[in-house]
Amino acid sequence: MIVGAVAVEASDTKTIRLNWPAGYDVNFKTGQFITCYWPDEPGYKRAYSLSSCALDRGFYEFTVRRDGKMGTRLVDWIKPDQRLMVLPPAGKFLPVYEANTHLICTAGGSGVTPFRAFVREATRRGLETRITILYSVRTAKDVIFNEEFRRLERDNPHFKFHVTCTRLAEGDPWPGRRGRIDAAWIKQQMVDAAGTYFYACGPNSLVEFAEGLLFELGLEKSRMKTEKWG
Ligand SMILES: Cc1cc2nc3c(=O)[nH]c(=O)nc-3n(C[C@H](O)[C@H](O)[C@H](O)COP(=O)(O)OP(=O)(O)OC[C@H]3O[C@@H](n4cnc5c(N)ncnc54)[C@H](O)[C@@H]3O)c2cc1C
Repeated sequence: MIVGAVAVEASDTKTIRLNWPAGYDVNFKTGQFITCYWPDEPGYKRAYSLSSCALDRGFYEFTVRRDGKMGTRLVDWIKPDQRLMVLPPAGKFLPVYEANTHLICTAGGSGVTPFRAFVREATRRGLETRITILYSVRTAKDVIFNEEFRRLERDNPHFKFHVTCTRLAEGDPWPGRRGRIDAAWIKQQMVDAAGTYFYACGPNSLVEFAEGLLFELGLEKSRMKTEKWG
């Protein structure tokens, strides 16, 4: 696929848009990932969650943090009109869009990317599914998709976007919550435990930390959906 656009989300994070080739049309689900490789390195493949949703047709978007070989090459070197090889979407990290459900989505850093897709689809379809994102970043400048999430909050009365900062310098004027995501903060969001599903996405350490918090709250494993990036 040909790179259509590259957008800077934060100092170390970019969103890459890949245009579908003529005649390409595929059914996939919001929350799935694609697998990419460079034409000159066919043996080196990496997975990326789609930050665009299943209602976005004609392109894929994914959002990458500069980390490791592939992450650095993508963030530092990719340009519009370049070619990237793409395997079709796969994965089971899918939103449960049933009536009376509440999805509490915890993420750190770039782990928020599939949740943009969750909220985009729910908002465009006018669903009543409640979605709450609890997003942990080092400082306010590390928040990605802030503008879009704030717009989605205005458009969708069932969506809330909450940010907590973990590494602010002393005297930083950030007016919001500080410190890591914890069990008490998750519990505050829960109205009806029976209708709540928990999602966590990102590096293994972060997802395992979130799983630990949910066990602390005594929640069933069937209510948790996780995507571990390694
Ligand atoms: C389902 C799924 C979805 C994903 N979605 C996303 C996404 O949306 N966005 C995203 O950014 N990532 C995502 N990832 C992670 C992504 O696939 C890659 O793992 C990531 O980009 C790093 O790959 P890499 O080849 O660049 O890392 P590698 O080069 O293999 O490095 C892996 C890690 O080891 C460290 N490392 C490498 N060499 C050394 C060394 N010599 N000494 C010490 N440390 C070292 C790197 O810093 C890095 O943290 C996803 C992963 C999965 C499984």
